[in-house]
Amino acid sequence: MDPRVLEAMLPFFSEDFGNPASLTHAPGRRAAAAVEDARERIAERLGAQPREIVFTSGATEADNLALLGSARLQSQRCDHLVTVATEHPAVLDACAALEAEGFRVTRLPVASDGLLDPEAVREVISERTAIVSVMLANNEIGVLQPVAEIAAVCRDRGVRFHTDAAQAVGRIPVNTDTLGIDLLSLSAHKFYGPKGVGALFVRRRRPRVRLAPLQHGGGHEGGLRSGTLPVPLIVGMARALELCAEEFEREAKRLRELRERMWSRLSEALSGRLSRNGHPEARLPGNLSLTLAGIDTDRLLLALHDVALSSGSACSTANPAPSHVLLALGLTPAQAKSSIRIGLGRSTTQEEVDRAAARIVQEALKLS
Ligand SMILES: *Cc1c(COP(=O)(O)O)cnc(C)c1O
Repeated sequence: MDPRVLEAMLPFFSEDFGNPASLTHAPGRRAAAAVEDARERIAERLGAQPREIVFTSGATEADNLALLGSARLQSQRCDHLVTVATEHPAVLDACAALEAEGFRVTRLPVASDGLLDPEAVREVISERTAIVSVMLANNEIGVLQPVAEIAAVCRDRGVRFHTDAAQAVGRIPVNTDTLGIDLLSLSAHKFYGPKGVGALFVRRRRPRVRLAPLQHGGGHEGGLRSGTLPVPLIVGMARALELCAEEFEREAKRLRELRERMWSRLSEALSGRLSRNGHPEARLPGNLSLTLAGIDTDRLLLALHDVALSSGSACSTANPAPSHVLLALGLTPAQAKSSIRIGLGRSTTQEEVDRAAARIVQEALKLS
């Protein structure tokens, strides 16, 4: 977490600990004002209105609220959902839960570069489709889906469109209006904010999107998400998003250069056995997904205890199966098990990139 974010949060853990739902006293009103100020600042960055931001515990909850809330609200006339094979488990498993409730789920395949063809969406949706959900940026391979085109297809057919933008918000500019999105999930810890807070954007105009809430209680957040709001986390999320927005272009350029530096170091030393996954241009600046032919990455990562690296996603806890994302790109299970994801961020320096590249090369050569 960015130290400037922590600084903004601290007062709301101590001197300003009022409950934002208690408007009969000054501390409560101060807390409510801080929440509404954060809501306005977050909405502005997303091209949204403040009342369209529903605070949640993160993107997992936002995805579940978008999907289960949409499907259950429309279950009288809709029994179909559309998503993509490369989605995050928060979307795929929410869809599987709805399948168990009787919905049909279409999981569209992607091309070998990880991208979905918007026309494929047009072909499968019908008046019985409750929602289409396609992520903006992939968490394993970093590719950016053509969500504006997909959203336009959905709008054309009168079907609501959700995007899991947990990897995109804070890293690239995201505007719900210009993209034509109805529902959008985000998570603060993905953009140097605190863990345990996120939001769901729920369009309230042209068209007004209605949801069935997942949890019942005091009717907070317009009845969509009952429960006392975590004021320090919300304040931190707003500050974190602002800091990202101030540095978007400079930071993207810096990360792209570091990523290409990492790639050239690795590919020179490991030439012939290294390949990149995902579309080369339509991608996040700080993500590099690599396959090291013939190298068991479980062993590689064990040897690389001094480099914070992962084989795929941190989200499928203790799941040794090959990545469903890489398999969807057409990699064999063996190739998928020989892949690593390198993530570069705000605190990553050129010196660290060089050191990490040297260590990866050193251990990879030992294992080959
Ligand atoms: C991290 C992530 C999530 C889960 O977010 P949490 O806030 O940790 O629940 C969902 N989708 C994507 C694409 C992610 O990267």
